Amino acid sequence: AHLDRIAAVDPAVHAFLHVDDDGALAAARRADEDRAAGRAASELAGVPLALKDVLVTSDMPTTCGSKMLEDWTPPYDATVTQRLREAGVVVLGKTNMDEFAMGSSTENSAYGTTRNPWDLDRVPGGSGGGSAAALAAFEAPLAIGTDTGGSIRQPGAVTGTVGVKPTYGGVSRYGLVAFSSSLDQAGPCGRTVLDAALLHEVIAGHDPMDSTSVNAPVPQVVAAARAGAAGDLRGMRVGVVRELGGEGYQDGVQRSFQAAVDQLTALGAEVVEVSCPHFDYGLGAYYLIAPSECSSNLARFDAMRYGLRVGDDGVHSAEEVMSLTREAGFGPEVKRRIMLGTYALSSGYYDAYYGQAQKVRTLITRDFTAAFEKVDVLVSPTTPTTAFRIGERVDDPMAMYLADLCTIPSNLAGNASMSVPSGLSDEDGLPVGLQIMAPALADDRLYRVGAAYE
Ligand code: GLN
Repeated sequence: AHLDRIAAVDPAVHAFLHVDDDGALAAARRADEDRAAGRAASELAGVPLALKDVLVTSDMPTTCGSKMLEDWTPPYDATVTQRLREAGVVVLGKTNMDEFAMGSSTENSAYGTTRNPWDLDRVPGGSGGGSAAALAAFEAPLAIGTDTGGSIRQPGAVTGTVGVKPTYGGVSRYGLVAFSSSLDQAGPCGRTVLDAALLHEVIAGHDPMDSTSVNAPVPQVVAAARAGAAGDLRGMRVGVVRELGGEGYQDGVQRSFQAAVDQLTALGAEVVEVSCPHFDYGLGAYYLIAPSECSSNLARFDAMRYGLRVGDDGVHSAEEVMSLTREAGFGPEVKRRIMLGTYALSSGYYDAYYGQAQKVRTLITRDFTAAFEKVDVLVSPTTPTTAFRIGERVDDPMAMYLADLCTIPSNLAGNASMSVPSGLSDEDGLPVGLQIMAPALADDRLYRVGAAYE
């Protein structure tokens, strides 16, 4: 049914870069047989899923939305991919994204823009717009995204779906093509909080193949989602982040957020205002740290190891082949980040830019620590505006970067964060997201509050 749905609507939505009809049907058949024999691999056995094209798959291409990796099929599965298969989850295909996960709209994909199913003239957010659009268009009930600065939560917010960035290290990065290694985190996406929780428990947990993987028990997120569904938040302290609101936020978003706060209060939560003064510097710090790590990580696309190779004609030198390939293979935003990052890391500038950004990162982490001494979770709008029109921000990188104003602090600090649908804006009728943030390793609190709220 989902393959039929994809065939019917994906020509208009363009959520998928690759659909594996045969592989999906074979996996579904296996799951059916296992279930009939009384040995279903997990609660999600047989459930279809859309996988962001930044996680490697041995049986499907992995392009990261880039010409650099056109038609490249990796020789192995990411740990996330492997755990999905072991749980009997049916991978339908790979979803569109901004090139190497750099962007907030999917307009930076080398393979065309994904459209928001709520309004096909608008973006589905990014970088994981394909995964979010696949959920919103009912092409898949579950999806995987990755979140370096907001790429799970912001697309979730603007498509009216649930997206979770787990605690940094909670889900293995092995086989997740690296953008900014100290920020990248894969996570579950769904249409309900419980669906996301079931998926969370399938993909999370320690992995010796990732040196930053957390070696601690997986938070009990399914139990938390089931408990939260009773809608009782008595005893829960919720902090509204003063710095994440006001000027620059659409009126419809602000009114939706106020209604969400009122509802949390009605559910019994004690809501207080909390100040996180260094969050104002999050965006600036992120746009030094993320491009710095990107410039280092993307050095691997050297025309020798993977994918594209241009000018290999016996005339050009190896260095020229490298440079011609990178010129042809990377899009403008990726080049901008590589240049910014290389500059920020160069000797003489390192302390002024990269070093300074790392200090801001510490201050933001301390803001969270202080806030979580007073409250159990923090809340804010997920993103300052609803889905913007395709083309509206392509020539203005700063306007594009502002989409992640509210989501970036949790990446810098490494704590857990969720976007849950918060109704439609009374301004333009488009979906709005409520962001819930919890301390590192307390991902279960997101699910308790999210399930009570949704
Ligand atoms: N939009 C942000 C960026 O362009 C975040 C991307 C992400 O989370 N992968 O870097």
